[in-house]
Amino acid sequence: MAVSELLSGKLLYEFRTIGAMVEIYCRAHHPLKPSKGVCVSCQEFLTYAETRLDRCPYGQGKPTCNKCPVHCYKPHMKQKAREIMLYSGPRMLLPHPIMAIKHLLAERQPAPGKPPEGVSNRHLRKLS
Ligand code: SF4
Ligand SMILES: [Zn+2]
Repeated sequence: MAVSELLSGKLLYEFRTIGAMVEIYCRAHHPLKPSKGVCVSCQEFLTYAETRLDRCPYGQGKPTCNKCPVHCYKPHMKQKAREIMLYSGPRMLLPHPIMAIKHLLAERQPAPGKPPEGVSNRHLRKLS
């Protein structure tokens, strides 16, 4: 399971869900990875996703990144996220049923408005 020392609450749960999806994706696409964990490039993506979650201006109330009007990911990371979700989303139900259902429910929530300019969740930490 993906471990984070930066995140808590909903952000940590989302990071673990992303971690589970990355593991499924990496196992199928990068078979030469070390026996434990994910390959270097997938780990790089996970570290990037962790930082984005930590800095998400919506904080604990964040929408699913898929519907976010900010789209804070760099284009190539956004593309990798899309590939991982497309491949692993349908394959999550058996190994991680609760995560899969929560993810599907989050995807059905309406897109939020844009947050105020320059806001980071760091200012919300004390509230969460
Ligand atoms: S700003 Fe949007 S894309 Fe970036 S982490 Fe938050 S919800 Fe996801
Ligand atoms: Zn990989």
